[in-house]
Formats: sequence, C-alpha cells, structure tokens
Amino acid sequence: MVSRTKTLNVELFNRLRDLLGPKKVSHSELDKVAYSKDMWPLGQLWTRSGEVKYKPDFVVWPETTEEVSRLVKTCNETGYPLIPYGAGSGVCGGAVPVDGGIVCDLKKMNRIDAVNDKSLLATVQTGIIGEHLERRLNHKGYTLGHFPSSIYSSTLGGYLATRSAGQLSTKYGKIEDMAVSLQVVLPDGEIVRTRTAPRSATGPNFNQLFLGSEGTLGIITKATLRIHPKPEKRVFQSYLFEGVEKGCRVIRKALQMGITPAVVRLYDKADTALSLEAIDFQQEIKGCLLILIHEGWPRRCELESEMVDRICKEESGKNIGQSPAKHWWKNRYAINYKQSLLLSSEKMIFDTVEVATTWTNLLNLHQSMKSALGDQLTVLAHFSHAYRDGCSIYFTIMGQSEDMPDTEFYHKIWQDALDACIKAGGTISHHHGVGILKAKWMERQLGSWMKVYAGIKKRLDPNNILNPHKMGLP
Ligand SMILES: Cc1cc2nc3c(=O)[nH]c(=O)nc-3n(C[C@H](O)[C@H](O)[C@H](O)COP(=O)(O)OP(=O)(O)OC[C@H]3O[C@@H](n4cnc5c(N)ncnc54)[C@H](O)[C@@H]3O)c2cc1C
Repeated sequence: MVSRTKTLNVELFNRLRDLLGPKKVSHSELDKVAYSKDMWPLGQLWTRSGEVKYKPDFVVWPETTEEVSRLVKTCNETGYPLIPYGAGSGVCGGAVPVDGGIVCDLKKMNRIDAVNDKSLLATVQTGIIGEHLERRLNHKGYTLGHFPSSIYSSTLGGYLATRSAGQLSTKYGKIEDMAVSLQVVLPDGEIVRTRTAPRSATGPNFNQLFLGSEGTLGIITKATLRIHPKPEKRVFQSYLFEGVEKGCRVIRKALQMGITPAVVRLYDKADTALSLEAIDFQQEIKGCLLILIHEGWPRRCELESEMVDRICKEESGKNIGQSPAKHWWKNRYAINYKQSLLLSSEKMIFDTVEVATTWTNLLNLHQSMKSALGDQLTVLAHFSHAYRDGCSIYFTIMGQSEDMPDTEFYHKIWQDALDACIKAGGTISHHHGVGILKAKWMERQLGSWMKVYAGIKKRLDPNNILNPHKMGLP
C-alpha cells in the first residue's frame, strides 16, 4: 500500500499540468470550495453554518479516457485519492473528498461517439449532462428514456455509478437496463471494455460490477446505451383513491398484466396535498392521487389507458381527468429546486428517502417507516418506479427539532428511517445510492456480500486510491 504521506503539492501540481495541460488543473480556493461537497443535504447544513468540511487538494478536468488512466496511475504513485465527479447532484455524499486528494470532474468528456440506427445503440462519453444527451438524441429522432428529476444537473457517469432511475423508468427501465457495454479505467490505470452484444453467457456480467459502485472500483468513461424512437403520442390519466391500498393494487394489477405506463405515481394523502400545492395546482384534491402517463405508438397508448381505466373502476378509483397528470408533466423538474429554500431556513432539515420492497411487503414497509418518523417530522410518500414484483416508496421528510442541533437531528432521523426500513425487510436505497450517508448500514444490508465487495475492492485497488471511505469501504 502506498503511504498516504502526500508528495509536495507543487510537485504534483506541475506533474498534473504536464499531464493534462495548464487549463485543466486547479488548486484555487474557489474551485476547492466548489468541489468540497455534492447535493447531500447534510452538506447544505454545513454550508448553512459556514463550514467547509472536506476540501480537495486539486480539481482536474480530463478530456479523454487515456488522460483519466494517466491520472489514476499518478495517484497510485503519489498516494493521493482520486474522486470521480459527474455534476455533484448526488444526494448521499458520494463525491465528497473525505481525504482530500484530486477531484476528477468528467464533464469535458461529453461527446457522443456514435449512434447506430440499425441496432438502436448510442456510444457516449460519460461526462455528458443528461439533458444534453437527451436533446442530441431527440434531434436524431430518438430518446434514451432516462429522465431523473436532476436531468439538467447530472451526468451519464453519475447515473451509471449510482444505478439511477428516471421518472419514466416503468416503461424504459433503469440505467442498468440501458447500459449494454462500458469502458472503465481500473484503479491501476488499465482501460477495459465489456463487449457490446445483446446478451452474453460468458461468465458473470462485469457491467454489473461497476454499475452502482459509485467510483470505488473504476472510473466509467464511456457507455453504449439502448435508445428508442421518440414517442408519437402521450396519454394522461388521473384518479383518486380513498387510501393507498387500492391505488397500489391498481399499479400491481396493471404491471402484472404487462401494461407499462411510462409514468405511474401514487401519492399518499399528505403528499397529494403538498405536492400539488408545491406545483401551484389550483384545484382542491382530497384523497390519494394516482397519475399515469402512457407514451409510444398511439394505438398502444390507447389500449393501455383503456385497460388501466377498467382496473381503476374495479378498485373504486374516481377518474378526475387528464389535468393533474398534465400539470405534473409540465412541472416535473420544477419542484425539486425548491428544496434549497427550505434548507436555507435556520434549523430546518429536508431530505428524501427512497426504499423498495415486494408487493407483499409494500404497505408494511410504508407503515413502518411512517411510524418511525411521523412523530418527529412531516412525512410525505409516493409510490413510483413500479415492477411486476414490487415497487419503490419515495418519502419526503422535513421538520426541525427544538432540543437538538440540526446536524444531530439529521443523523437521528436517518438512523430511525433506515433501521425501520431494514427491520421491515426493505432495501435502503432504490436509486440514490449509498455514498457516506448510508455506508454504516451496508453490512446489515448486504450481509456476507459486503466481505466479497471489500475483497474485490482490495484486489482491484490495493492502494485505496479510488473514492475512499464510501459505501462502507475503508
Ligand atoms: C434535485 C435532485 C433530483 C434528483 N432526482 C433523481 C432522480 O429522479 N433519479 C435518480 O436516480 N437520482 C436523482 N437524484 C440524485 C442524483 O441526481 C443522481 O444520483 C445522479 O445519478 C448523480 O449524477 P451526477 O453526475 O451528479 O453524479 P455525482 O454526484 O457527481 O457523483 C455520484 C457518485 O458517482 C461517482 N461517479 C460520478 N461519475 C462517475 C464515473 N464516470 N465513473 C465512476 N464513478 C462516477 C461519484 O464519485 C459519486 O460517488 C436527484 C438529485 C437532486 C439534487
């Protein structure tokens, strides 16, 4: 293991400048503060109290896979950690430079190398912002189908590294369903690539080793992705249910019949009221709102919406027309950017907790987590990202404590939330990942697999260069 005693900064600075060119390396205080955190709400609490907790020694902006490889080799020789950085929209502290080191911003790697019209594949550098990728594909008549709420401020590399899920995931799948092959720089600097084939029975699927590894096992520099023709039509539906039980039953029945709406979101009563208020929906709506959006060929959309309508009637759902679903669609990215306002208020904490489980256990998980948190905070929940076998639940939590400092309260809330989730048999993350925030639950969540993961990390990265102290690893 290389000693963590760092080489003299000036020496390394000159070396990085030789390697990348003078404009692609910085050690300015401004850049170091800007790259000291991501969108983890705890980081917003640090900022609120004027604290800069962790700063990198350098920020670099490579443009090619070869430059990334040379950076990784330099870090191995000098003992400096290297932290891959997409756009810093991660909400778990995954890109925070805990040990200092070099933050490697990949956003200059934003090229689309090729679009294959016959196989419907696009090969793309991973520093590209999601919205730019989508627009460029749209221009050629395609869509990737990946629409996280952070699409304007997150990168393809971040999606792959955190196993991200977009708002239209029920139709197009999650990022792991889209990734056919990956190019990865390993922790020793070697560049590897998985084969582009619809499927292979040649041993374990190595894409899966890197998807969700949050920069701990390698830096993903390119990906070949499945793309789709742009949809011809969109059909909007909205229903009201007395409680979430019947709404969940509708979603399960629809998915198990093979219907795949692009969007399916069921809000509990509190989330129905507050979400609609937050997006300035004027009509008063009481009960649990279910919205569905179908997209694709017109006839398929019509058929799917007819079938859903029939199931909703069976479950006593009240059809309230297209307008709530259309309103959500129009405001689908707006709501998230109101978080900073809440967080700027003294003592207030705000966060989101996304968990998942099977249909059999879904209402139990929902209830258990609400009971664990409900006395301490305002808790809203919606069900989205549905599957044939289960669904995710997305809790929005906000509040403040009169007795505890805000950061202490923040940690307590997460402790209560994830303990309750594990006890109720859920997974502690459906799509935000682990980072620092959920690291301490990894052993309970993965069991013996945590040893396997740590073993792979040690074998691939004996100097612990890549993104240390994340995901329950040293
Ligand atoms: C307002 C808001 C809304 C959000 N909505 C969604 C949503 O709908 N769905 C969703 O899934 N997430 C959502 N997120 C979370 C976040 O956008 C995702 O986790 C996203 O995938 C992070 O991308 P990024 O480029 O910003 O990555 P970063 O935050 O920069 O990095 C995330 C992690 O990935 C690693 N990493 C980044 N690039 C690479 C690479 N090329 N190779 C290896 N490791 C890498 C980093 O080291 C870090 O560990 C939201 C966040 C915010 C703030």
